[in-house]
Amino acid sequence: MRKKECERCKKSFSKIYRLRYIESLKKWVFMCEACLLEVKKDNEFYQYGGTWKG
Ligand SMILES: [Zn+2]
Repeated sequence: MRKKECERCKKSFSKIYRLRYIESLKKWVFMCEACLLEVKKDNEFYQYGGTWKG
């Protein structure tokens, strides 16, 4: 099963989320669910771009 690295915690996951937030406004990044929930909080720039599965 393929894995991708989470932009924030740098761990690898076989299921990861594509998103944009304030520090990545110009590009899409991949994050695990725990990090997604963290950056999503009170973040008007948060944008969900799909789920990736390895
Ligand atoms: Zn993470």
